[in-house]
Amino acid sequence: MTCDEVTILLHALLDDELDAGNARTVEAHLTTCSSCAARLRAYRAQRQALHDADLKFVVPDALRRRVVAALPAPQSTDRRNLLKGVALGGFVSALAASGVGLVVFDRQSDQALLYEVTSAHLRSLQPGHLTDVETSDQHTVKPWFNGRVEFAPPVIDLSAHGFTLVGGRLDFLGGLPVACVVYKRGGHVINLFVAPAPGADGTAPSEDVVRGFTVRHWNAQGLSFWAISDIERSELRAFTEALRSA
Ligand SMILES: [Zn+2]
Repeated sequence: MTCDEVTILLHALLDDELDAGNARTVEAHLTTCSSCAARLRAYRAQRQALHDADLKFVVPDALRRRVVAALPAPQSTDRRNLLKGVALGGFVSALAASGVGLVVFDRQSDQALLYEVTSAHLRSLQPGHLTDVETSDQHTVKPWFNGRVEFAPPVIDLSAHGFTLVGGRLDFLGGLPVACVVYKRGGHVINLFVAPAPGADGTAPSEDVVRGFTVRHWNAQGLSFWAISDIERSELRAFTEALRSA
């Protein structure tokens, strides 16, 4: 058995997961190979250190409240329980403290929001549901949102890029009012949802396909954006880039 093969089996040996034959072979190698023996000692020390370390971390209330507040409302009860579980689990909590857990929560809430965005998009395609204010004039659409949402969504004329502004409407994501700016490309509707995301870092657009619709999501300037449509993915990418560079 070579040192490389032994190295792969060392963890299994430590975990008592090797069958008798392999265990004997590895142990025989360790009696003659000082570097593999040293590696095993290092693994043992590492494991002991992890075992001894106090890795229990209780999520501070302020952080817990912030995370819960950032989660969409419908699942909030489940998430709260999940978070409580994290506070009780030692090593998992250390991961949460390091930010790894928070990334996981964000991804879960992103996933839930993707489906809400898709449902809202489908609803908007029903007759009479697409716009509350119907005009291609950005200077009419933008002020229409005043007093209806507590932030100012950008309303940008993209006709030079082949995307026609058709209006705006008030919509809801995660139980919260959001702005929806509506565009068309040919006969196809593009809904651009805009929600407040105070303190969120800007992100490059991510792309998902949900029930045949392409959804692009990104954060910029304290706002969260979702663009959804059944146009070609490359066209929605062009739409996103035109918006982001405007
Ligand atoms: Zn060796």
